[in-house]
Amino acid sequence: MRGTVVKFGGSSVATPEKIGLIADGIIKRKRDAGAVVVVVSAMGKTTNGLIELSQRITAVPDKRAMDMLLATGEQVSIAMLAMALIERNCPAVPLTGWQAGILTESGHMNSRVNGVDTTRIQRELAQDHVVVVAGFQGVSEDEEITTLGRGGSDTTAVALAAALNWPCEIYTDVEGIYTVDPRLHADARKIDTISHDETFELSCLGAKVIEPRSVELAAKYGVDLQILLNTMDKPGTRITRQSDPMEQNVVNKVSVLDNVLLVSVDQAPEERLPEMFSNLAEAKVNIDVISRTPNGEGVSFTAPMENEADIVRVLQGMPIDFVIRRDKSKVSVVGNAMRTHPGVAAKAFRAFHEHKLPFRQVSTSEISISFIVDAETKHRAVKALIEAYGL
Ligand code: ASP
Ligand code: MG
Repeated sequence: MRGTVVKFGGSSVATPEKIGLIADGIIKRKRDAGAVVVVVSAMGKTTNGLIELSQRITAVPDKRAMDMLLATGEQVSIAMLAMALIERNCPAVPLTGWQAGILTESGHMNSRVNGVDTTRIQRELAQDHVVVVAGFQGVSEDEEITTLGRGGSDTTAVALAAALNWPCEIYTDVEGIYTVDPRLHADARKIDTISHDETFELSCLGAKVIEPRSVELAAKYGVDLQILLNTMDKPGTRITRQSDPMEQNVVNKVSVLDNVLLVSVDQAPEERLPEMFSNLAEAKVNIDVISRTPNGEGVSFTAPMENEADIVRVLQGMPIDFVIRRDKSKVSVVGNAMRTHPGVAAKAFRAFHEHKLPFRQVSTSEISISFIVDAETKHRAVKALIEAYGL
């Protein structure tokens, strides 16, 4: 059967009015595509609200109960959207992750998808129903409701597209992937095609447009993936194996990750490091850039703000002095060109130097270079990089 998977995030279904607009768009899309499976996120900031709600009971909620709570958000959206479609004379059926056959590993709150059993979906499609699936949730082999980690609805959509052998369209509140976040730079340019690698790197380095795990999944199963504006009437960004060959040598992207903590440990002799980093790992602290301080005696590392309490607890339990600096940002340039063009890094350093922009740490991957800067330097750094690369 010919068809497409379409996915709408929380901001696209934030109100009943918006849900109505989406329903109109889906009905139109079905005429061209043949059949449609829709994946939706929870309405607006519902998931954040549910997390806050749990915090009023306990700081450390039971994970199974937490998944039960979080899964309710998406259940509201599928019910509302199915009603809107039926109201418009378009037969539709809402399915939870469990009903839709989204099978995950056991373990809670960040479960991986193991497979999709499309039996029920196929049955509904055969009756010409629009199938509306709750994103972000599944069922484990022990028949527990699980969730896939924040932003997990993208993964639901890509997993369904892979299982159905259909393309996947992710609709959102921007027109696609940009050379730099349009909220940081008004003249940001939309990119027509971009590689999986670059998209994965960008989303790990702060671009909020798509969840990294879903990009990994799309690459693995060769899913034809696009990011588009939720008005459904504009070309978006297509994510493919290769960047556009015309663009791949010139275009770099700038992305910004905020709320980075910079932790400096003054006296950190080598023999103390294994213990310190294992304790941090045990506390599930997500350590990023690590470096020796200039005098060679200390060590500093970055981590996300959510990990602050755990870092403090672990380090206070050890005989070391440390300082935590908040509000750092990680400003990165991403581009496949870096694999083959050594000048890319030089350009970034020149831009920082010429604009007298201080940075605290630098890290690189095969296709990115990242600078940890103070929050007040962030905008100037983005501007300098945009100029340097002519974005
Ligand atoms: N509602 C979930 C979240 O806010 C999943 C998603 O939106 O993709 O993280
Ligand atoms: Mg999202």
